[in-house]
Amino acid sequence: MSVREQHSTLSQDLVLGKRCRTSIVFSHEILHAIGLFHEHARPDRDKYVEILLQNAVNTSLINFNRISSRAINTRGVDYDYLSIMHYGSRVS
Ligand SMILES: [Zn+2]
Repeated sequence: MSVREQHSTLSQDLVLGKRCRTSIVFSHEILHAIGLFHEHARPDRDKYVEILLQNAVNTSLINFNRISSRAINTRGVDYDYLSIMHYGSRVS
């Protein structure tokens, strides 16, 4: 496999809708692309936030899944309400 082929298998496209082309959304999506999850998906999130799934639209429910501690290691980092990977209180 050539270097070019190796690079192409490790790359991915990032496509943002016109309304999502802001530096905050771009940064958020880049962090997903390198493997970060939503802050509010942490296994310990229920100690910090209450997710009201009845207020979320069906197509976005997956964005509110809590991920098990077997899949995420928070490494003792404090929960960050202001993380760029944390939805605001009005996102559905
Ligand atoms: Zn996200």
